[in-house]
Amino acid sequence: MTHTSPRQLFVTTALPYANGNFHIGHIMEYIQADIWVRAQRMAGHEVNFVCADDAHGAPIMIAAQKQGMTPEAFVANIAAGRKPYLDGFHISFDNWHSTDAPENHALAKEIYLDLKRAGLIETQSVEQFFDPAALEGKGMFLADRFIKGECPKCGAKDQYGDNCENCGAVYAPTDLKNPYSTLSGGTPVLKASEHFFFKLSDPRCVAFLEQWTQDGKLQPEVANKVKEWFSTRTNADGSTSTGLGDWDISRDAPYFGIEIPDAPGKYFYVWLDAPVGYLASLKNLLDKRGVDFNAYMKNPNLEQYHFIGKDIVTFHTLFWPAMLKFSGRKTPDNIFVHGFLTVNNGEKMSKSRGTGLDPLKYLSLGMNPEWLRYYLATKLSAKNEDIDFNAEDFMLKVNSDLVGKFINIASRAAKFIPNGKLVSTKLSEASLDLLRSVQMDDEALEYGKGLRDVMAFADTVNAAFDAAAPWKLVKEGKVDEAALIGSECMEAFKIIVTCMKPVLPALAAQAEIFLNSGELNWVNAAKPLGAGHVIGDYKHLMQRVDIKQLDALFEAPAVVETASQATPDKASSSANGAAAIEPLAPEISIDDFSKVDLRIAKIVNCEAVEGSTKLLRLTLDAGEVDASGGVKTRNVFSGIASHYKPADLIGKHTVMVANLAPRKMKFGVSEGMVLAASSADERANPGIYVLKPVAGAEPGMRIR
Ligand SMILES: [Zn+2]
Repeated sequence: MTHTSPRQLFVTTALPYANGNFHIGHIMEYIQADIWVRAQRMAGHEVNFVCADDAHGAPIMIAAQKQGMTPEAFVANIAAGRKPYLDGFHISFDNWHSTDAPENHALAKEIYLDLKRAGLIETQSVEQFFDPAALEGKGMFLADRFIKGECPKCGAKDQYGDNCENCGAVYAPTDLKNPYSTLSGGTPVLKASEHFFFKLSDPRCVAFLEQWTQDGKLQPEVANKVKEWFSTRTNADGSTSTGLGDWDISRDAPYFGIEIPDAPGKYFYVWLDAPVGYLASLKNLLDKRGVDFNAYMKNPNLEQYHFIGKDIVTFHTLFWPAMLKFSGRKTPDNIFVHGFLTVNNGEKMSKSRGTGLDPLKYLSLGMNPEWLRYYLATKLSAKNEDIDFNAEDFMLKVNSDLVGKFINIASRAAKFIPNGKLVSTKLSEASLDLLRSVQMDDEALEYGKGLRDVMAFADTVNAAFDAAAPWKLVKEGKVDEAALIGSECMEAFKIIVTCMKPVLPALAAQAEIFLNSGELNWVNAAKPLGAGHVIGDYKHLMQRVDIKQLDALFEAPAVVETASQATPDKASSSANGAAAIEPLAPEISIDDFSKVDLRIAKIVNCEAVEGSTKLLRLTLDAGEVDASGGVKTRNVFSGIASHYKPADLIGKHTVMVANLAPRKMKFGVSEGMVLAASSADERANPGIYVLKPVAGAEPGMRIR
């Protein structure tokens, strides 16, 4: 595709929910979008690449309350932690904003009012579960995830309000037997409330969406999935209906969100204002630059693209384009959908939970972020397939491709170019073809294909170098011939650097200094550096992956380290007075040990303790049931507040002393104790490390 003038591109990734730190799934999406954006910038196109925290909704309101914070402060805390990830993995967003920002409040209201004027907003009375005891007696309507009860089909206990994890049944929360609120534990009551709906079933919306989703722009597998939604949909009670349903866009107070104009106590459902956050972040960026947002959006040549995961396709292919279209705004030019990332064939990295590969741990181990960018890029294509991060494959690819094939060219060739002065004056046809095809592959999101072609080209360059054997030529006194081989390889290396630049921006910047080439792009790279061009001294451009780093990356946390440290090692612990570890306690018999009943417990909740800087209040599920058969949890206080935030612990498994006599404390009764490791020498290591079992252990299992 050739463009005479620069394209104007507005690009976003999905907005992460501001209730936790990034996991590797977020980073993969940002890397995918960032590569695309960098490739566009290298073609001279003008890109605004933005994102924001998705700040609203009941889960954030509840989480903030549990920590004794305002939702605004809670979200600000999360936002403050974003930068190390984004900088660390070279994600080149032009702006990071929040859906709670004034721009978003204003835009969401404007869009809503435009939809209302278009006759697409309707109100209906809806009966819903309400928990009068929630939020310290203020009461609130319960989203499906805050209601549990017995499955109406199979009778399984503690099932969520929308579907049964035991038998897979789908139902309405009102179908649950013995429903209870997960917030207060009390019984919810049915209460009617007026809700606002966006009339997606309106013939205008249906006609527009059928055209917009089926005109060939969407990935075929996405378009096909969307097509099914036009024919049938599954209702809350499991029955099916024909055609698109209307969309409930309101929630009742108390809610952390944007109040609906002229409807006191009614708020936009978080998914109404979240995508508006794309526009709000862009507006915030343009305002800072003194560019008029409305004029920018009215440019008929503006292209708008959203990178998202396959779990939020409905919102981006139905609700969002319809909201924009019928509020008289520009609709997206395309939605790029990717699959999920699994780690070592492990757990799915979904929006709300991620385990396996901790991005900050990766960086803290000194692992090169560009290894990850390269590895993920080799696996990414235009299809929304799931991809797997495999540690062995990762090491093999990085070491053999990046170091063995790519970097190697420069380190070998540089030795045969006297004083760094090139003698070659031409670029091969193959290298120019590669430059063009990789640019097109990047545009088409076919990064894996492009990189395979780059590596095949690197193979031919290395093979040509080996065949010419410049080291022999030097021995034969043919220094000029050797310099020619070296120069040709260096020109080829420059082409590869350019092709890799969207994926490896930091390495490319170093290579540009070494090559003395200036900033490389798709256009200027097609001209040879040329005879007489002087390159710099070669310095090693990239290290190999060390297996020890991968071992450390995937090492189970705390529990394994502490277990190995605690193993009695007489040679080191008692040989002299300066023992590396705390002296061992007096010997006990197996009977003594079995008096202590240690159990696996799940931390179902964790919160700060008002009035204490040391304690956290943990709610533990150790598999016990109460008289009525419900989950019986335990309240345990633990002096770990200086090392853990409640959000770090919620949902994690740990080890609990289950038969410790209850202790009455200032803040309540503690019904057990969680195990944590600490060093006797606080100055050497002040940390406190809560024990965590290897994956698979379940609440209630005894530790023997
Ligand atoms: Zn069931």
